Amino acid sequence: SVLEGGAVFLTSPADLALLFLCTSQQIQFADDMQEFTKFPTKTGRRSLSRSISQSSTDSYSSAASYTDSSDDEVSPREKQQTNSKGSSNFCVKNIKQAEFGRREIEIAEQDMSALISLRKRAQGEKPLAGAKIVGCTHITAQTAVLIETLCALGAQCRWSACNIYSTQNEVAAALAEAGVAVFAWKGESEDDFWWCIDRCVNVDGWQANMILDDGGDLTHWVYKKYPNVFKKIRGIVEESVTGVHRLYQLSKAGKLCVPAMNVNDSVTKQKFDNLYCCRESILDGLKRTTDVMFGGKQVVVCGYGEVGKGCCAALKALGAIVYVTEIDPICALQACMDGFRVVKLSEVIRQVDVVITCTGNKNVVTREHLDRMKNSCIVCNMGHSNTEIDVTSLRTPELTWERVRSQVDHVIWPDGKRVVLLAEGRLLNLSCSTVPTFVLSITATTQALALIELYNAPEGRYKQDVYLLPKKMDEYVASLHLPSFDAHLTELTDDQAKYLGLNKNGPFKPNYYRSVSAGAGSRCLLTQWAPLGTSPGTGTVAAPRSCVPKHPRPQSPLPSLLDTDGPYP
Ligand code: NAD
Repeated sequence: SVLEGGAVFLTSPADLALLFLCTSQQIQFADDMQEFTKFPTKTGRRSLSRSISQSSTDSYSSAASYTDSSDDEVSPREKQQTNSKGSSNFCVKNIKQAEFGRREIEIAEQDMSALISLRKRAQGEKPLAGAKIVGCTHITAQTAVLIETLCALGAQCRWSACNIYSTQNEVAAALAEAGVAVFAWKGESEDDFWWCIDRCVNVDGWQANMILDDGGDLTHWVYKKYPNVFKKIRGIVEESVTGVHRLYQLSKAGKLCVPAMNVNDSVTKQKFDNLYCCRESILDGLKRTTDVMFGGKQVVVCGYGEVGKGCCAALKALGAIVYVTEIDPICALQACMDGFRVVKLSEVIRQVDVVITCTGNKNVVTREHLDRMKNSCIVCNMGHSNTEIDVTSLRTPELTWERVRSQVDHVIWPDGKRVVLLAEGRLLNLSCSTVPTFVLSITATTQALALIELYNAPEGRYKQDVYLLPKKMDEYVASLHLPSFDAHLTELTDDQAKYLGLNKNGPFKPNYYRSVSAGAGSRCLLTQWAPLGTSPGTGTVAAPRSCVPKHPRPQSPLPSLLDTDGPYP
């Protein structure tokens, strides 16, 4: 690697691959995760604990589309379409929207300079030459920049959408026009969703050797329907919390047959996508749907992890009075130190104007809470699944639903009280607003580098397990984004480097360094890495301690002092 303008740049795929040499470690998955093997069928899908209705409609890293699905009732599956080169190797809503989509992609490129610089750096050498990547992500202008970067680096790509609502139709059209085999449109049915995935995997004369997934549905499909495909797969890169959980389940069951990279828990994803992205998009989503004024409003935010911290900071800055609910004493203490009142939801539910869930948990807002809310209370969710608010409990005969705007329902009680429910309890920012391109650039760069690494890794470097990105990779992704701010990094002197025991080119922190705040998930995944035997900055870390609690969760509210793994594994 070389230093350029204060940032560390890698010059070849071998350099990129080298990043992983020192620090890749395996982590294990907690006992109590849901089964991976539940497979959605056309009937009874809703009853499955982790079906498409959760993962494909509620994944979060992207935004609303500018086109809606109502302009044409003919299913894209029924249409015969070809692009200007005569290819019909795609299925999108309307190929004629390609030019509009191209403009959207070009606008996104302006804020995704790191990916563009990756394209430039790879000129001549193609680190993904021969890679056949099957992808399942949101299909937006930002992911199009990622997909086209992968193609520029030498890969062939086939792509479907990980969310039935989030596809920007014009962007999908632009990708199809550019020759990418894309199968996606906004407003797919569940059957369409699996059909699109299948069209990406089940192809005569083409077999994927890499998977890029967001939510785990693609991996799940391949695992269930085409297990032989894994013989050629060199690795899986997974972005979402849900997908990562599924991978750990597979790994724990000894069923993961290829290496996988957990992008979700890299610092550059969690700290930026979860925290900064939500800090901006919570206000956007609420404003677009309700025109609410925040000053002086009483808001309760459930969960003070990365997403909750972002939401609280934004609402506080606009003059809202913010309450926090938490189960984790560390996060609760953080909320206190940040100036928020930590309460039980039941204590404030009668008085608050807005309720926001961001826990990743289920039934956080129950029917009882909803019954006690005051008139016009706004209720929404920023977590991954649509189970945080018990929306199902509102579908009873005595309550009337009135759709007042797109994604805005008034649920009306017999006495005339109205609760304003946004996006039917689905992710607010995904459903009702856009998310900042720059944040997606950070995640997309991480995904691209993870693919390059897994694809180029010599045999044996990665086993059939789930790996975190090493600190140096996170630092590299961050360094690629610093020029956007004209930020100038300070370079360690030789003397300082020696004093701190660091390599001047990084990594600058050991892997166990808590860049990520102590949310429940992050504590499980990151801070249990034992620093023993570690020389800070060398990139080597001791084997991680298992996230599996050594003692059963105590029944008493007061845990034993000997229960060193704590009550929140
Ligand atoms: P996190 O683990 O850091 O934070 C979740 C917090 O909720 C934890 O501190 C936990 O203790 C708390 N919690 C759990 N159950 C609770 C309950 N019943 N009551 C109160 N608090 C409770 O996770 P995160 O990174 O903040 O992500 C939260 C959710 O948001 C996840 O589902 C994640 O997938 C999703 N997410 C959304 C976006 C978005 O753009 N909307 C972005 C990233 C992540």
